[in-house]
Amino acid sequence: MTIFDDARAEIDAVEARIAARQLMTCKHWRGPLGQPPCGAGVDVVARAGPRRLPGWVDRVPCRDAAFPAFTCDLKMTPTSAEIEESKREAGEAFSRVSAVMRALPADKSIAHGEVPCPKCAGPVRWERSPVNGHVRAACAEGCVSFIQ
Ligand SMILES: [Zn+2]
Repeated sequence: MTIFDDARAEIDAVEARIAARQLMTCKHWRGPLGQPPCGAGVDVVARAGPRRLPGWVDRVPCRDAAFPAFTCDLKMTPTSAEIEESKREAGEAFSRVSAVMRALPADKSIAHGEVPCPKCAGPVRWERSPVNGHVRAACAEGCVSFIQ
């Protein structure tokens, strides 16, 4: 057993915990800072108490809460196939961002322009901040949009 085997085992264990948590997390959950209401219109803060309560996330039934303050009849967890589809879509979205970044001119003095969208071939308008060099770009059809 090498140090790489140990690292691989740790990565596998972390990924398994993430996958298990995803299977138990409601599709309507918007994250601990995105409440209320959740995507199903449930006011989680009103039902579980203010977020400043210690262990608040263990009071909301939206994830794998240890001590849920209430039972939510609207909780809907994703299937493994839905999680895989979501990962695939995220990977494709990231690829579109990479493709747009690669299409930008290498000359950093060029501050704005258009490049073809990697999905629809329509225009992706972009601009580079003269202050910090960050790029903002968006396809007119909504295929890709980011600030980098
Ligand atoms: Zn597009």
